Amino acid sequence: MPNRIQITPKLLSGGTNIFTIMSKLATEHKAINLGQGFPDFECDEKLKDLVAKHLKEGKNQYVPLAGLPKLNETLSKKMEHVYDMPIDPSTQICVTAGATQALYTAIMAFVNPGDEVIIFEPAYDCYKPQIQLAGGVVKPYNMTYPDYGIDWNKVRDMVNDKTRMIIINTPHNPSGTILSKQDMEALEAIVKDNNIIVLSDEVYEHLTYDDEDHQSIMRFPRLFEQSMAVFSFGKTLHATGWKLGYIVGPEYLIKEYKSVHQWNVFCTNSFVQFGIADYLDDPENYEYLAAFFQEKRDKMNELFKDVPLTPKVAKGTYFQAYDYSEVSDMDDLAFAKYLTSEIGVAAIPMSPFYTNPPNDKVIRLCFAKKEDTIQAAAERLLKLKG
Ligand code: PMP
Ligand code: GLN
Repeated sequence: MPNRIQITPKLLSGGTNIFTIMSKLATEHKAINLGQGFPDFECDEKLKDLVAKHLKEGKNQYVPLAGLPKLNETLSKKMEHVYDMPIDPSTQICVTAGATQALYTAIMAFVNPGDEVIIFEPAYDCYKPQIQLAGGVVKPYNMTYPDYGIDWNKVRDMVNDKTRMIIINTPHNPSGTILSKQDMEALEAIVKDNNIIVLSDEVYEHLTYDDEDHQSIMRFPRLFEQSMAVFSFGKTLHATGWKLGYIVGPEYLIKEYKSVHQWNVFCTNSFVQFGIADYLDDPENYEYLAAFFQEKRDKMNELFKDVPLTPKVAKGTYFQAYDYSEVSDMDDLAFAKYLTSEIGVAAIPMSPFYTNPPNDKVIRLCFAKKEDTIQAAAERLLKLKG
């Protein structure tokens, strides 16, 4: 027998995340994967050519810790253009290995053991373990189907001397909802006299529909002074596998963030940063995204019109929540597994995104897919009609 040392797991729930579980099941059953959120279409050839050009031209050594200066310039210009917010490219941005690493490093940098962090559940799955790894205490606020709204008076009641951070996510994964200007003002009123950092997950910033604007923290200068926002090139460029993103905030917070980031990753991939810097310099390469994904959402709703699942029409992200109570009283994990293995369409249940799941019968489906894929999924889902 090999000698195995004893380990003390840092995470209480050491299980595999729901995306991995459902994608594995989808592969096993040859199901159409509307579960894990990734596009099944290619990113722009122009972008691939730019990245390949820089790779071939030898942009293969370390770049500065905070990111390739040319990329930081491009991002600063983009944020001024989109949010009318001046961001200093040399002190207010740090390029990261995807949004996940930005969130992890920010939580590690600012949350100390015993600090409380308020999150809104269903919450994207990495927040909770990251807070726990920092020794923080998760304080979940439950949002429920169909509105997934927030009563800010209740949030105010959750705040106390130990509250160090509030994590928001708009547009919201997994519900497909967005925060309004009033939501952001209510948040600002709560944190303004408190020693609280707002960590704003805005990876779906360009994916808002029906003429709704994305309410970035960058639209609220007073709130921005105590906030950081996290972005992902995976979402903006249809390239989730590149695992690159960035974090933005006031200089004093980004300075502290970078002091941890340097021991975490130091810097990220060089030639991809060169390629993205050139590509995002042109607003046309991101301004099309809302209309592009809105068309996909609408196509899915049209093709699914006879499917007996009730959508909560997405206002943002590339996910839509569906109530399945008309066809089953299984719990959501069992139903998502049944859909995958028996009907041939993989879905994501909502309960893994909650500490205390409500009894909602809701799953999440992803519409970042080719029309053929959505059509094929609709045909399979019609079998639910019995
Ligand atoms: N936050 C949210 C809300 C997400 O949906 C995702 C993943 N899609 C991430 C963060 C992580 O992004 P990345 O893949 O860039 O790490
Ligand atoms: N963000 C993707 C989703 O929500 C999945 C990311 C992952 O697999 N960890 O589906």
